[in-house]
Amino acid sequence: MNRPTEDALVDEVRALLASDDALLVPPGHDCGAVELEGGVVVATTDALVEGVHFAPGTPWEAVGAKALLVNLSDLAAAAALPVGFEAAVVAPPDRAAEALPALARGLADVARRFACPCLGGDLNAGPGPVVVAVTVVGRPGPGGLVTRAGARAGDVLSVTGPLGGAGAGRHLAPRPRLEEAQTLVRHGVPHAMMDLSDGLGLDLARLARASGVGAWLDADAVPVHPDVVATARGSALEHALGDGEDFELLVAHAPLAATDTARLAAEGVTLLPVGRVVDRERGLRLRHGDETVPLVARGWDHLRAQDAEGA
Ligand SMILES: [Mg+2]
Repeated sequence: MNRPTEDALVDEVRALLASDDALLVPPGHDCGAVELEGGVVVATTDALVEGVHFAPGTPWEAVGAKALLVNLSDLAAAAALPVGFEAAVVAPPDRAAEALPALARGLADVARRFACPCLGGDLNAGPGPVVVAVTVVGRPGPGGLVTRAGARAGDVLSVTGPLGGAGAGRHLAPRPRLEEAQTLVRHGVPHAMMDLSDGLGLDLARLARASGVGAWLDADAVPVHPDVVATARGSALEHALGDGEDFELLVAHAPLAATDTARLAAEGVTLLPVGRVVDRERGLRLRHGDETVPLVARGWDHLRAQDAEGA
């Protein structure tokens, strides 16, 4: 049987859950947001499954930390700031006593570092692998929220750091770019933004789709993490484009003068240009010198359990 891609299935579910309510940011971005009297509430959620997102035997402290860090990365993508989190854990009864306190220590460590207190949680018994699901509630930073939808033709596409190094162990402790996102917004830089969780190839296709644009990546410009090596599964560039869990920000922005780039660098934000936003008709392409080839939206598709080609 031909299984749907992750994106196709998410589209189907999103259509079923679509509401007429005027949401500030509807489903389909890194965070949703609703405007209330007196403010805006931002929320995002992510589940980690043993054997999928972390190997059996991984220290539970690291799993707890990662469960919160990946959600904070989504807040960063929206230029939001943390308010608090809730965690739901499903674990076999005979493992809960060992796993829970250590998971909680990992969560508490990140919660303290990022001022994101625990608001509550839920513990359930289950027969299978341990699942840790975290929901983070946030608020817009002073410069407001950013979504995936504002990129326009002529924009530069940049990332905040080298890509593809997650395989070397970095994936257990991603660093959410919360401060970098605030700095970028303070300088009015992002037209659209997202965090790279499933690989630049697939995630860029998602940003382009949300913005209704095309995108051309420059193969020579993609910053490949020094830990990335070519394997039987692909070149170093293919790993940089296709491996998930980079958790760098992908930013679409107007071309920057050297003085702007220097000012951002002085505030700790490096923007590495990787390509350009183009009209939708020009599609998604990867440029090698004078030649371009279709950019296959490669990345981590959870339903196909491997790096797969997106729709
Ligand atoms: Mg995200």
